[in-house]
Amino acid sequence: MFDTPQPARPGVLHIVATPIGNLRDLSQRALDVLKTADIIAAEDTRTTQGLLNLHQIQAGKLTPLHDHNEQAAAGRLIESLRQGKSVAYVSDAGTPGISDPGARLVAATRAAGFTITPIPGPSAVAAALSVAGIEGAWMFIGFMPAKPAARRRMLEGLAARADALVFYEAPHRIEETVDDLLAALGGDRTILFARELTKKFEQLHCCPLAEAPAWLAADDNHRRGEFVLVVSAPEAAVEDDSQTRETRRVLDILLEELPLKQAAHLAARITGARKNAVYELALTLKKQA
Ligand code: SAM
Repeated sequence: MFDTPQPARPGVLHIVATPIGNLRDLSQRALDVLKTADIIAAEDTRTTQGLLNLHQIQAGKLTPLHDHNEQAAAGRLIESLRQGKSVAYVSDAGTPGISDPGARLVAATRAAGFTITPIPGPSAVAAALSVAGIEGAWMFIGFMPAKPAARRRMLEGLAARADALVFYEAPHRIEETVDDLLAALGGDRTILFARELTKKFEQLHCCPLAEAPAWLAADDNHRRGEFVLVVSAPEAAVEDDSQTRETRRVLDILLEELPLKQAAHLAARITGARKNAVYELALTLKKQA
């Protein structure tokens, strides 16, 4: 079954991931679907037409669906699904719905009772994490608010979290963002700059947050292109991730019933984790709550 082409299915919405730089990253199945879909909805039809031309795909009808018309365009696509047409959706690059349009289309299609299927493939967040060497839990933030005050407020909230943090950032804000990360999270956590992934000038640079502003300033090229930033979890959280997860589970329960000190003491006895680390984790959980 899987060694034969898999064309787009009638009455189904296919959410298709496309390359984030390297055009050879388009999957065989994405090609099958894009070649055969009756309608391809695209965040930017010119960008998608370019991709289709490169792959010599004579596509079905191309129609725009972006942030500003998503609801109305979704209505029209649902009508097409109702008529038994096969529909594919692609954003400009990577996976739709991840810091890209697509979520409202998916929700509306589901509400209308039609089948939705993912055609997985490139996404900058997955590509960056695959080379980040992060073992434990991570939290995807995507783009932070553009306004400095809102960004700083968000970071203050994130500082207490025990997870690694993953951000998207554009070149014109990279320095400001890194300054804010340093101020909110401290200099000890490491940051991975995953720049221009899969492209000619791909660069991965990992350093303590304290050294990040100097690295950015050292070379104009360091501030160019597209970025994923992966900030490691706070030290106490990475120590032993599986044990931390168990400690966290136990603490969550005990903190509901007991004062912090007593909950931490008991959690350390139950899990065998270090008392200080458990106490710190309990403080973090309490702050989050
Ligand atoms: N939907 C896309 C995905 O699945 O990754 C993300 C789209 S979002 C509008 C664009 C942002 O993703 C960029 O500003 C950058 O932060 C990140 N990004 C996209 N392509 C990238 C690449 N080749 N290298 C590094 N980051 C990238």
